[in-house]
Amino acid sequence: MPKRKRKFNAVSGMFDILPSEYPLWLKIEEVVSSIANFYGFSKITTPILEEEELFVKGTGQDTEIVEKQMYSFKTKGGKRVVLRPEFTPSIVRAYIQNGMESLPKPVKLWSFGPVFRYERPQKGRYRQFWQFNFEIFGDKSPIQDVLLIQIFSDILRDLSLSKWIVEVNSIGCKECRSYYLRQLKNYYKNRLREICPECEKRLKKNPLRLLDCKEEKCQRVKKFAPQIVNSLCEDCHQYLKRVLEILDTIQIPYVLNPYLVRGLDYYTKTVFEFVPQDKKEGQSALIGGGRYDYLINQMGGKDTPAIGGAGGVERIIEEIREQKINILAKRVERFEKKPKMFLAQLGELAKEKSLTLLEEFRKNKIIIGENVGKDNLKVQLEQAAKLGVKYTLILGQREALEDTVIIRNMETGIQEIVFIKDIVKEIKKKVK
Ligand code: AMP
Repeated sequence: MPKRKRKFNAVSGMFDILPSEYPLWLKIEEVVSSIANFYGFSKITTPILEEEELFVKGTGQDTEIVEKQMYSFKTKGGKRVVLRPEFTPSIVRAYIQNGMESLPKPVKLWSFGPVFRYERPQKGRYRQFWQFNFEIFGDKSPIQDVLLIQIFSDILRDLSLSKWIVEVNSIGCKECRSYYLRQLKNYYKNRLREICPECEKRLKKNPLRLLDCKEEKCQRVKKFAPQIVNSLCEDCHQYLKRVLEILDTIQIPYVLNPYLVRGLDYYTKTVFEFVPQDKKEGQSALIGGGRYDYLINQMGGKDTPAIGGAGGVERIIEEIREQKINILAKRVERFEKKPKMFLAQLGELAKEKSLTLLEEFRKNKIIIGENVGKDNLKVQLEQAAKLGVKYTLILGQREALEDTVIIRNMETGIQEIVFIKDIVKEIKKKVK
């Protein structure tokens, strides 16, 4: 009897990207890349394989990802390595290892590539999936949190996806979180019989994750659990308030979800997720992220505040398909050239208006530099001069109140004032 030839399949939870699907994948990367370029992010690609310890220390020993979902193995040389289950610890490692700490802040990096998690495969949940990932290092201003949320909403909107909402929460800092965790533990300790065995373990190891449990009975207990927003220290409270205020002003649809914790160890203050508007049971987020002000220091770098987030390409493709959207014909601006202009701002109102103004420029395909987290006008003008831009737009406190903006010719020093509503038109005339 001749031996039967065996046919092979891709391993469970992993898929080929077929030639027929490629145009859509490329379009998504093109849209992400265009927005990353406009907002001054540089692309970085790190190895898929990393030391296991990087994620144990970075993502956190007791997180779902590290505890259960890592593809880890020993190399022939005896080193424990993993297929990366997320980007952030790798990007932080690369940032420290390659001397990027000495670059002017903020340092903005973006990536696009596969990540691996050993989860139970189902619709929208795979074992190899692709993410686009954004990180901003070295800026603690709440405006950066909103800028990142604006960037992700731009990506979805440019892909013609509009039926989503951003869930936002704050998980506080070292001080207020420990106070909250004590309250949370006390609450759950009295309800041990009402929660699942997995949550009993969570209570001991990582109590914040109790709020992530999808079991029905645990959901019932969660409904009355203390909320971290009520335990935030003054600083974290003001920070969250500011993030929400700016989101209101720039009209990004959001809800405060006091139980959103995102299950990773490194987050501080703001966490967010983009979820489908009419989210069905079990349906997951399209994009998620948060602030992580301690991680870089914890990984051996300098004390550096940071924020980042990632979106899942397969889930976005599923949304595009379900909504029967055709994006293939869409023309996408590349924004690869250096900016000829710079937007300098001063004051809280000016910062808010800057976000909208930047969007206005992006839609009009004019690239413009910015440093919206900075408070010092002189530093921003120096940055503009270093970039060699011909014009700097100055949006100070007075201008923000009067809805005007100053256009400064950097070569002659001549300044003129125009209304914000006319700025794009004026600039178009000048840089034609
Ligand atoms: P996370 O790193 O868990 O915050 O995930 C960020 C994004 O990646 C999510 O919002 C999803 O879009 C996507 N994602 C996470 N896990 C999976 C998975 N197992 N399969 C497909 N996409 C995923």
